Amino acid sequence: MRIVVCPGTFDPITNGHLDIIRRACNLFDRVIIGVARDNYKQTLFSIDERVALVKEVTQDLPNAIVKPFSGLLVDFVRREKACAVVRGLRAVSDFEYEFQMSVMNKKLAEEVETIFLMTATEYSFLSSSIIRQVASMGGCISDLVPPAVEKALYAKYK
Ligand code: ADP
Repeated sequence: MRIVVCPGTFDPITNGHLDIIRRACNLFDRVIIGVARDNYKQTLFSIDERVALVKEVTQDLPNAIVKPFSGLLVDFVRREKACAVVRGLRAVSDFEYEFQMSVMNKKLAEEVETIFLMTATEYSFLSSSIIRQVASMGGCISDLVPPAVEKALYAKYK
C-alpha cells in the first residue's frame, strides 16, 4: 500500500490543487490531504471551513482522505505511515522555497521523499491568494475553483 500526503493551507482549495490531488490519486493507493491547522499565514477560512470545503470537493475520489494536522509535516507523514509528500510546482518562483523545504524535511526524516508534480498549464498562474483577491472585488472565478468554493468565497465577502 503506497500512501502519500498532499499538504497545504488550502485557503481555499482551487482547481490547481485539485488537479495535483487527482493526479496523485491516479499514481498512489491512498492520498491523505493534510490541511495545515496553524500556519504562519493569516487565513481567511478557519481550519474547520477549509477541511469541510476540501472534503466536499474531493468526495468523488475514493482513495483520498482529508485530515487536518498541526506541527511538523514530517511527523504527520510518519503518523500516517506515508512514504512521500506530493507538492505542486507552478513556476520557477515556487522552486526555491519548495527545494529548501524538501531538503529540510529530508534532514528531519530521512525516509520521507518529496515528489513534485508540474502544474497543468491552465493553472500555472493560479493561487489561493489571487483567488481571494479577485473574489473580494467581485470578479468571476467560476473556472478556477469548484462551485462550493465559489459560493463560500462570495459568502465571506458579502
Ligand atoms: P502552502 O501554504 O503549504 O504552500 P498551498 O495551499 O498554498 O499551501 O499549496 C499547497 C500545494 O499545492 C503546494 O504544493 C502548492 O505548490 C500547490 N499548488 C497550489 N496552487 C497550485 C496550482 N495552481 N497548480 C499546481 N499546484 C498548486
